[in-house]
Amino acid sequence: MNHCLQCSKPLSPKKEDGFDRWVCESCGWTYYNNPRPCVTAVIGQEGKVLLASRAMEPAKGKWDLPGGFIEPGEHPECALAREICEELQCGLKSTDLLGFYPDMYGLEEIPILNIAFCCQTEGKIVPCKKEFSEIRWFGLDELPSKFAFASVRAILDDCIEKFELLMGNPPTL
Ligand SMILES: [Zn+2]
Repeated sequence: MNHCLQCSKPLSPKKEDGFDRWVCESCGWTYYNNPRPCVTAVIGQEGKVLLASRAMEPAKGKWDLPGGFIEPGEHPECALAREICEELQCGLKSTDLLGFYPDMYGLEEIPILNIAFCCQTEGKIVPCKKEFSEIRWFGLDELPSKFAFASVRAILDDCIEKFELLMGNPPTL
């Protein structure tokens, strides 16, 4: 954000209560860089977790969890079902809230707030090629060392600790 949305004059950085703001010195309008909420799915089957290699920037080619940004007015659980339908073309049988994970997105370092769920899917998983170049089931002891975003590691650590992933048989990929 470089220019005022009210009068189009350039914005100046300013510290307020210890947080970075951008203020218009001409009209007084303030830009608050609040985090954007997004949803993430940890899909577990038979002790393994589904990871997807990103086909698009940011973090192209790196392992990520399925999910995406919440649309205006959309409930997080509806956003999760929509994203899973778009990205994996399957349904959700169950969702359990895991927690909230602040992170940064992309080179612009857009602040995000990840809402993570442990999920079970229903139906055949068919990854969307536009979104993912590959999907793979990883054992919890054979997870990759690097992920697309810092919060992925934190989400998986919490998931391993809080939820029993040993459920059902892995669906055919
Ligand atoms: Zn202004």
